[in-house]
This record gives sequence, C-alpha cells and structure tokens, in this order.
Amino acid sequence: MQPLIPTLAVLLSIAGSTSAAPAPAPYLWKASAVSTTITPDKPMWMAGYASRTGPSEGVRQDLHAKTLAIEDADGQRLVIVTLDLIGVPRSLRDAIEKHTTEKHKLPPGSLLINASHTHSGPMIRIYEPRGKNRPEQVISSKVAPENEQQVLDEVRAYSAQLMEKITASIDQSLATLTPAQLKYSFARCGFSMNRRTRKPDGTFKNFPNPEGSVDQTVPTLQVYDAIGENLKSVLFGYACHATTLGDMQIHGDWPGYAQQYFETDHPGTVAMFINGCSGDQNPYPRRKVEYMERHGRAMATAIDAAIFANPVPVKGPLRALLEWTPVAYDTPPTKAELLERQKSKDHYEKRYATFLLDDLKHNGTLAKSYPVPVQVIRFGDSLTLAAIGGEVVIDYAHRLKKELGEKNKGAIWIAGYSNDVMCYTPSKRIIEEGGYEGKTSMRYVRSTVHPTNWSPAIEDTLVKKVHQLNDQLNSARSNKKP
Ligand SMILES: [Zn+2]
Repeated sequence: MQPLIPTLAVLLSIAGSTSAAPAPAPYLWKASAVSTTITPDKPMWMAGYASRTGPSEGVRQDLHAKTLAIEDADGQRLVIVTLDLIGVPRSLRDAIEKHTTEKHKLPPGSLLINASHTHSGPMIRIYEPRGKNRPEQVISSKVAPENEQQVLDEVRAYSAQLMEKITASIDQSLATLTPAQLKYSFARCGFSMNRRTRKPDGTFKNFPNPEGSVDQTVPTLQVYDAIGENLKSVLFGYACHATTLGDMQIHGDWPGYAQQYFETDHPGTVAMFINGCSGDQNPYPRRKVEYMERHGRAMATAIDAAIFANPVPVKGPLRALLEWTPVAYDTPPTKAELLERQKSKDHYEKRYATFLLDDLKHNGTLAKSYPVPVQVIRFGDSLTLAAIGGEVVIDYAHRLKKELGEKNKGAIWIAGYSNDVMCYTPSKRIIEEGGYEGKTSMRYVRSTVHPTNWSPAIEDTLVKKVHQLNDQLNSARSNKKP
C-alpha cells in the first residue's frame, strides 16, 4: 500500500524537476594577461633601504611587469599593470596614461598601476625639484657626487626601457582579448604583522607587534576561459611590505616568489600581485632567504585555497574613476627653523633641511598640498576595488571595507601603492601617534620633497574622495537603467 506521505526519493525528484530549468548563461568578459621581464640588464643602484652603498651584486630572481586587460560585455575596458618594483613614480604613471589615452582611448580611471614595493629592485625614482628648469637629482645620498650623473643616466635608461616594455605589454594584452569568465574569492595568509610597537616612553619603534592591527585576507580575482574551467590568470592582494630581505641581490621578495611558485604550480597562468594597505605591515620572520621563500610558498598556497573556496562569478558592467586629490600638509617649517635644522649632526635631517631651503629659495614658499591619486573600480555588483596612492596604512583597509560594504553589494578590495607612491599615506591615528609612517619618514626625499608631515585631515580627505567616486559610479549606473 502506497503511503500518503511522499517519500524522500519522490521529494528529491520533484525538487530535481523544478530546478531542471537551464542555468543562466554566465556573464561573458574578454580578458588577456601578459607578463614581461623587467630585470635590469646590468648592476644598478637599488631602492628601498637608504643604507645601501653601491649597486646590485647579482640577480636572485627576475622582476616582472604584468598587465591584465579586461573588457565587459558592453565593451568597457580596464587595464591593470602590476610591477615588481619599489613604487610607481608619478612621471611613469603620466607617461603610461598618455599612451593608453592616445592609443587606446582608455579613460584615466580605467588604468590602474600598482607596485609590489619590493625593496630589492632597481632605483627608479629621480628627485624632480619644483620650479622651472631645475635639474633632476639622484635620490640616494650614498651615491658619490662624481658618480651622480652616471647613476641618473642609468635610472633614466632603465625607466625608458621599462616604459617601452609596459606599453608593449598593454598593447599586446588589449590586442589578444579572448572570451573569459571572472570569479572572486578570498583566503587568508598569516605572515604579515603590524610593525608599530609602542615604547615605554610612548613613542613608536619599527618592531613586530603581534597585538597590532592587520588585514590578512588574500582577495583573488580569477580569470578563466569562456567555459569557466581553465584558469588563465589570477590577481591577488595582500597587505604586507615586501621587505623580507635587504641584501644586494635583485628579486621580487615574497610577492615575487608567490607569483613564481603559483605560475610553476599552474603552468601557463599569469599571477599578478596587488599590494594592499601595507604601510605599517611587515613580513615576519625576516632576513633569511628561506623565510622569503616560505612566505612566497605560503602565499601561493593561500591563492590556491581561495580558488578552492567556492569562488563566485563576477559580473559587469565595468565602471571606474580616478581623481588626483589635493591633500594638505601640516604647518610647514619656517626658514629660520630650517636653517637651525641644517646644523643637525643627523645626516638625513641636515640633508632634508638643505633640500627644503633649496625648494624655498626657488619657489618662494614650500608646497601646501600634494595630489594623491584615488581610484574606484566597480565590477557590477560583484566587486569594488578602491586604490589609493602612497604607502597606505592598515586603518584605511578596515575603515573602507566597512564603509563601502554598507553601500555596495559584493566584495570590497582596498589597495595601496597605486598610481603614485610619493611617501606614506598614514591615518589620522598614526599621524597623532607619530613614529616612522606618520612623521619621520617624510624627511626622505623621493620624487618630491615633502615640507612636513601630512595634516591629520588626510584620512577623511581620501576616504571622502573614495565615497564620492563610488557614489558617482553608483548613480551613473542607476541613471542608465530604464
Ligand atoms: Zn615602505
């Protein structure tokens, strides 16, 4: 006799028949990633540690520039460039943007350039004094005056080659776009640690602080072929300085090894690293080649874990905006104060005061603000990627993930070291606390000389700009809807 209550098998068969409708077609993107070697072809002065006294002494690992071009179903395009280098000089960003605007009609917001911040790559920044007809100068104070011209020439020659290689990769990736599916997921990886430790006297030193704030997520944007099965490239992020080693060998530090290991494990793929808000984050332990390799291996495994962890489809449309946001400095020093500081026995303090006095002499007044790039990229309702210039500290990651997460659907990804790396980008808290990232690092001359630390308003200024761009993208999208 047949029971009145349907059996589990019957229920399952009913459930199966109702879900037999064809699965929705996947959102079809086009994408292409290109990897190019940018290892210097001869020894070069290196970037990252002011204490180095000579050019590189060998190559432990090749450096790469990688480009990922993506096109949505409406033909909107995005180009992401990642570099195994210390930073992105503004001049390099401008030159690449000129190329992508003129040749490819790409809006500035649709070009993102991010640096891994390896401290074991070549020196690529030149000090460009403000004012008319001012000669460029080498950044490192360890270069002997009689060698300065030669070092400048080498940096310029390398930069010209770099520019050629990057633009050729962009051209190639845009010319080889093929149908693709995009997916997003994240995992975690544990070797980053906050490096700001409060001393008994209340000041801060650069020392591992396991109690300090971190963001150990590893966001991944995965590019598959049209059927969504074969991985072609992966863009991964993490908030950690690339400073495991500080020797005289050229290499990409842990991000370089993570990319290399992942590409070896997944032949034919291109792995690209986007540095996060790692201004106050270091890899620990440090100072041994094996630690660097282990961090790289841990990260390659974390990317695999993310891919394994149920990635969700990423849909369009693509929308992106970038703005150079003037950020005010704090009250600058007076000429009398600078003359006094110039007498300092501290070599870096003396040099800093000398640069500022020179700037004052040629410009009449010190700079009051500096334009910091802020970029927001939306992949439909699937993913928001906000990218800020400078060595952005971890507070921005937490604040923006929370605030954007309340407005936007989908994943939130916050990157630092993007489009211009002019100095640290501290939070209000870190400026008030003081220490290296908030104050004392400002005295190191990079492509520009900063007259003093940022105003504590920097955090709200940049966060407000992220919201503004995000809101513009949201309203542009809803206006377009019928
Ligand atoms: Zn740094």
